[in-house]
Amino acid sequence: MVVPFTHEPFTDFSLEENQKAQKEALHQVEQMLGKEYPLLINGEEIYTDDKIVSTNPGNKEEVIGKVSKANKELAEKAIQSANEHFDWWRKSTAEMRADILFRTAAIVRRRRFEFNAWIIKEAGKPWKEADADIAEGIDFLEYYGRQMLEIDSGKGLDIVSRPIENNRFSYIPLGAGVVISPWNFLFAIMAGTAVSPIVTGNTVILKPASNTPVIAYKLMEALKEAGLPGGIINYLPGPGGEVGDYLVEHPKTRFVSFTGSREVGTRIFERAAVVQEGQEWLKRVVAEMGGKDTIIVDDNADLELAAESIVNSAFGFSGQKCSACSRVVAHEDVYDQLLDRCVELTKELDVGDPSEQNYYMGAVIDQASYDKILNYVEIGKEEGARLVHGGTGDDKNGFFIQPTIFADADPKSRIMQEEIFGPVVAFTKAKDFDEMLDIANNTEYGLTGAIISNNRTHIEMAKEDFHVGNLYINRGCTAAIVGYHPFGGFKMSGTDSKAGGPDYLNNFLQGKTISEMY
Ligand code: NAD
Repeated sequence: MVVPFTHEPFTDFSLEENQKAQKEALHQVEQMLGKEYPLLINGEEIYTDDKIVSTNPGNKEEVIGKVSKANKELAEKAIQSANEHFDWWRKSTAEMRADILFRTAAIVRRRRFEFNAWIIKEAGKPWKEADADIAEGIDFLEYYGRQMLEIDSGKGLDIVSRPIENNRFSYIPLGAGVVISPWNFLFAIMAGTAVSPIVTGNTVILKPASNTPVIAYKLMEALKEAGLPGGIINYLPGPGGEVGDYLVEHPKTRFVSFTGSREVGTRIFERAAVVQEGQEWLKRVVAEMGGKDTIIVDDNADLELAAESIVNSAFGFSGQKCSACSRVVAHEDVYDQLLDRCVELTKELDVGDPSEQNYYMGAVIDQASYDKILNYVEIGKEEGARLVHGGTGDDKNGFFIQPTIFADADPKSRIMQEEIFGPVVAFTKAKDFDEMLDIANNTEYGLTGAIISNNRTHIEMAKEDFHVGNLYINRGCTAAIVGYHPFGGFKMSGTDSKAGGPDYLNNFLQGKTISEMY
């Protein structure tokens, strides 16, 4: 009997014993840095001469690992392997597959501080954020294992038989698919998107983000220890353009599960739609993409709650979350007071390499992001928004950018419309609630949003008309929890697959009806 799902608790870093354990784990991981990692195809370890070098964004000289880099030939081998293994894996029992996820969760839980340390190093995540990333990954393993058992039980799938006709309806897996994951939730999203297809009986080629392939290898280690046979997940880091395109277009690819930018997601959506010679199906595509997420602050709102929610949602993990608050729309009566309080709270945030000390904010992921974010700061100034805090960076040792606040931004300006994916938030004011909602909805994205209000009518209006996949009321717009807040976006934010929700696994299943006369 499997106990009901409960969310994995976060580590309390105010306790000295936990601080000590995290520091020790960082030290332990430091002894393992710079190692070489193979690709895993058909259960074989394959080392290539060409390597992806993963470094610490907060300390550019520190090499986390050198990971073998796939090319088209190796991608072909991985697709063949995934297709061959699908023939038997699809017939394995749900219980066996779910048990592998439960054991993997236990292994990661046992190595929690070590796994935290890997992602503090590889993505520059502050401790709290790293710990939440690992907790979410454990949640996905536990939640999807249970969901598969639920589907397998047939509950809710009843159809009617007749006296001379026996009817059955059930779900079967799709085939061999490609999972392409981003660097920002380098463990949680990578793990959640890799294990959801396999627990449903599919096989996978996992192409993790090139900035963060080492933590993905650590998951492979844990899955192997938990009993996952070789060839069910083929680990294939490689350049998105070359390897990604090849995998997406391949006629033997049955589905693609992508999480990343709008630009790459729409390209994948288009390319996967083209039916290739010899292809026997229409590919299923799950594409979860970017956001431009708004917090609305009403005239009668609790302004302290609003300011704390904005600052945490905008600057947690340096704003590098698809759900990060990058726009604030406040009622004109409370605008100045709210802005002042947000600036005050932001001044208290410290920025530095979290592998040295538990800073609130670490570096942004790489030079390209650093340049892009600071370029948006210039764009904001040129567009006439008022820079009221931050706006500077230092990339001598790592890619550090100060938390940045713009005031009086034009709702149609680029800093209010385009995903910056860094610690930059822009404020604008509105005269009434209708206008606030109009501004909140005026982007092409629709991922998360929040409203801070004590006006019941306005809250009900937001429920109806604030068009986002995840709407939060009287809290920030980040930190969705598996099983509590199924996550996925509308509009150009994606296919709304709702990760961590009760019907997520259906993305990797197809319904089969069997009707027998006797
Ligand atoms: P990205 O789109 O640059 O890369 C994502 C993945 O796609 C990487 O593994 C990359 O190597 C791969 N890739 C690149 N080109 C490819 C191609 N032509 N074919 C196939 N794969 C290719 O995104 P990123 O910088 O890693 O992540 C940040 C983005 O992800 C942001 O836009 C953020 O909002 C989004 N994101 C969305 C969600 C969500 O649930 N909606 C969650 C996390 C991140």
